[in-house]
Amino acid sequence: MHYNHIIEAVGHTPLVRLNKVTEGIKGTVLAKVEYFNPGNSVKDRMAIRMVEDAEKAGLLKPGGTIIEGTSGNTGMGLALAAIAKGYKTIFVMSDKQSKEKQDILRAVGAQVVVCPVDVAPDDPRSYYSVARRLNQETPNSFYPNQYDNLSNTAAHYEHTGPEIWAGTEGQITHWAAGVGTGGTICGVSKYLKEQNPSVFTLGLDTYGSVFKKYKETGIFDPNEIYPYKTEGIGEDILPKNVNFDVIDQFIKVTDKDAALMTRRLAKEEGLFVGWSCGSAAFGALEYAREHLQETDTMVVLLPDHGTRYLGKIYNDDWMQAQGWL
Ligand code: PMP
Repeated sequence: MHYNHIIEAVGHTPLVRLNKVTEGIKGTVLAKVEYFNPGNSVKDRMAIRMVEDAEKAGLLKPGGTIIEGTSGNTGMGLALAAIAKGYKTIFVMSDKQSKEKQDILRAVGAQVVVCPVDVAPDDPRSYYSVARRLNQETPNSFYPNQYDNLSNTAAHYEHTGPEIWAGTEGQITHWAAGVGTGGTICGVSKYLKEQNPSVFTLGLDTYGSVFKKYKETGIFDPNEIYPYKTEGIGEDILPKNVNFDVIDQFIKVTDKDAALMTRRLAKEEGLFVGWSCGSAAFGALEYAREHLQETDTMVVLLPDHGTRYLGKIYNDDWMQAQGWL
């Protein structure tokens, strides 16, 4: 058996039981470990799906250029799809994202444009605006816009959700994931709730993001928006991929709690994962400690790999400079 191209190896990531960080928790907590994807993140499935849907819709033509605003992982998935299908790639990132993520994208042949993080989304210098402008200026280019492109949620509804349902033999009772574009949590939640409406869905958010307050009050509150350090989750916009109806509850996790939990996942579970994995695990375990029963099975998704954060949360000097060690 062999794959004809690396993108055929995307998906079917393992569920691994958490054994140490779950001390004091009743029930079973399984991690869906997404770094087993060839792009080392949860974004591979949706990147391929956005490209293939755009081809079908005639939005992406031979020789075209894919231009996307990304925190890095979607860029990696798009780059792999572009290599398979013969497209060029330009990625627009904010300067908050780790240097490793920029280097990885360049390593797979992408052009990378870095923009300031501390400007409003509608500022012409923001990475959202620059991606849009480059799309207008570049002939035969396609801007997937992962925030509002519903192919994102569809990929997780069609693949990640069924993988989790089959992997737990339908025994899953609780599902938890961090929320960035919302594609992962909402695609999987919709699928799981269709199989069993009583599956509880938990979204992990950051301090400095609008999601939790919006879910609880219906208010988009600009006072909720302030700088934070965790990469890949939390937003200052409401992406179309976030369907609040299928997310039962949000919990916010601090940068520090997330960083420390990520380091525990590496040392105590052997899961060398990324920073938002610590956010997801910390929030999920906090909920589980209070609510999980012996017979319950929670799945928490760990989005990416630790190599992308070697210069930050896995670096003791950097951690000390934050006052976190
Ligand atoms: N963690 C990381 C590291 C990510 O790159 C992303 C994608 N932005 C997420 C979590 C959140 O996934 P989603 O966009 O599907 O909500």
